[in-house]
Amino acid sequence: MKKIIPFTLVLFLCFACKNETNFEQTVKAENISEIITEKPEFAIIIHGGAGTILKKNMTPEKEAAYKAKLEEAIRVGYEVLKNGGSSLDAVTKTINVMEDSPLFNAGKGAVFTHAETNELDASIMDGKTLNAGASAGTTTVRNPIDLARAVMDKSKHVMLSGKGAEIFAEEQGLTLVEPSYFHTNRRLESLKRVKEREAEKTGKVDTESTYLDFYDADIKNAKFGTVGCAALDKNGNLAAGTSTGGMTNKRYGRVGDAPIIGSGTYANNATCAVSSTGWGEYFIRAQVAHDISALMDYKGLSLKEASKIVLDKVAYLGGDGGIVAVDKNGNMVAEFNTAGMYRATMNDNGELTIGIYEQ
Ligand code: ASP
Repeated sequence: MKKIIPFTLVLFLCFACKNETNFEQTVKAENISEIITEKPEFAIIIHGGAGTILKKNMTPEKEAAYKAKLEEAIRVGYEVLKNGGSSLDAVTKTINVMEDSPLFNAGKGAVFTHAETNELDASIMDGKTLNAGASAGTTTVRNPIDLARAVMDKSKHVMLSGKGAEIFAEEQGLTLVEPSYFHTNRRLESLKRVKEREAEKTGKVDTESTYLDFYDADIKNAKFGTVGCAALDKNGNLAAGTSTGGMTNKRYGRVGDAPIIGSGTYANNATCAVSSTGWGEYFIRAQVAHDISALMDYKGLSLKEASKIVLDKVAYLGGDGGIVAVDKNGNMVAEFNTAGMYRATMNDNGELTIGIYEQ
């Protein structure tokens, strides 16, 4: 079995090199070529999570609400970049908008753990210095991406977790909230549905064998909505950030890929900036965000080629999800192996693309 993986990766490499696809079918052709061929002064791309997002399950109102929030968020980052601000500020402020919306599985809309709490994870990375910050398992910090940023800028550490992270957040003057701030009925209903399905399969809810949420195709698709952003600023600096509530029904202080530098987030001015979303256990094992950068760095692959290879590796291992990324030349890629991924891009001409479904 072990010998199959490198062989499979070679196959993926051949496949990926031959099989370039367009980022977003809704983008006009001339916009795509502009994104790819001319080096823009700056660029920004975001995601609001990947998963079983099917048009048939979407009402026009819901679709419009997601598109409006994606546009609101990316325009905030666009303005920062247009005014000469840093990619780090663009990423932080863009993610703040999505964290404050109940639509996404981050901040206000975070999913519930098995114990009916909300435990939030986030990370950010600076492509110029390779400095990074992350927080895991917080329950009272309103905007976890601000905490990740503070860890990067104001501490000697890269990742803080739980109570200690919350004490640090308070010391830094970040906005703290009651844990109930993160309670939304929609996410509580999702948890109940997941637990019901779990009970049907195991006969009882509270059993030690219950990582079914990670292994059952229906249940795992109950999650999606993690948010992320990758940006290139006018100074050529790349940054990426990711913020999430994790996966519905997670237990035992489970931490996913989102706060893991190299898995959920990576940025390097020499290559690209990447934010991931998907089944975290697999994204950690595949080291998704760093692997994309490494394939560009060591093998000279394009961002698109590298992204496809790494997501094929995730799929080969049994996981699913997607990434958004921008390279040092401003090429933007949104790649996913799920039915959909909430996403949007803006370039320095102010051209906006928004996508939800695969086609
Ligand atoms: N990657 C996140 C996690 O595993 C979940 C998601 O992206 O939806 O925690």
